[in-house]
Amino acid sequence: MSVVECIRVLRVPSPLVRPFVTAVRRTDHLEVVLVELIDAEGRSGWGEAATSWRVTGESPQSVAAAVAGPLAEVVLGRDAADPDLASLLTRAVWGNAAARSAVECALADLAAQQRGLPLVADLSPESAVNNSSRTSRIRTDMTLSAGEPSEMAALSEEHVAAGFGCLKIKASAAHDTIAGLRAVRSTVGSDITLRVDANQAWDAETAIRVIRAAEDAGLGLELVEQPVAAHALAALAAVTSAVDTPIMADESVRTAHDVRMIADRGAADLVNLKLAKTGGLAEALAAAEAAQAAGLGIVIGCMMESHVGVSAAAHLAAAVAPGVVHDLDAGFWLRSSPVAGGVALSGDELDLGSCTGLGITALAPDARPEILVDLSARSEVRA
Ligand SMILES: [Mg+2]
Repeated sequence: MSVVECIRVLRVPSPLVRPFVTAVRRTDHLEVVLVELIDAEGRSGWGEAATSWRVTGESPQSVAAAVAGPLAEVVLGRDAADPDLASLLTRAVWGNAAARSAVECALADLAAQQRGLPLVADLSPESAVNNSSRTSRIRTDMTLSAGEPSEMAALSEEHVAAGFGCLKIKASAAHDTIAGLRAVRSTVGSDITLRVDANQAWDAETAIRVIRAAEDAGLGLELVEQPVAAHALAALAAVTSAVDTPIMADESVRTAHDVRMIADRGAADLVNLKLAKTGGLAEALAAAEAAQAAGLGIVIGCMMESHVGVSAAAHLAAAVAPGVVHDLDAGFWLRSSPVAGGVALSGDELDLGSCTGLGITALAPDARPEILVDLSARSEVRA
């Protein structure tokens, strides 16, 4: 046992490979928000909070406030491996799932390091007896934004040349989805897997029309993600029953409870589980278990985040669904990792490596962190 002595929140601006452009903003870098926990023996455990007002409802400042207040109170001076900590974090603060996830992942990283095991081993105890058969490589799709068909075709060619075998195409109300998909399919050929993510863009009627048109055109879609609004479970169920293409719920699913609601209503065939939605690994494992029990497929996804958050998600993916092509391409969007170690990216694979914990050893030498929170157990005691 080794107690958590120090907790930090770091903001690390990280340049993107290409500017991220949406209807409302254009940015050329990601504000990576990291939580670092340091134990009494000087080991560091790492976690990441994906922040976006519009997606996670959190910001670097809100993460800093949640960590410096109720979350630090839970973990400082406690054994990182204490099995009660995950539920104590859940009870300490309402919402703030990305902040909770960052702290819980950092604890899990630290606890696995203390035991000398990779994080995946702690997430899949039943296979821990047979370490050699566990996969150390996870495959991911690559996201392609909606755009003009010719642009999408050119980008899809680039991604396939880089080694991606599965492309996730964003649908938008402003673009002709079928025209874009036809252009991509005729460019990449039949061997490449195509998924579509509508991010709630359609109503049920539109979703059924577009998906049936894709089926009639023989576009060979593996799945369509979140065709309708997050809370419109009846509409989601109507789409799922009206089309042959498998439907995956993303925004509709945050917790294990949501997975059971989806399953009870027959609202989707698969679920996309993300740590920034579940608030950490414990709830993600519970959600995965609920999905498996109900016969729903599982894909592990991520937000716009760096190698730190993606590493935790990759260990989770290796534990719960090793053979699936996951949705963990965010690291490929950054010019370089803000940390040394963690998953290594090549082709369409994330290699967990042979590490203890997440395998993150330090901040990258060229990282320029701004320290938002820096608290130690000793200063807490003095206060
Ligand atoms: Mg999605």
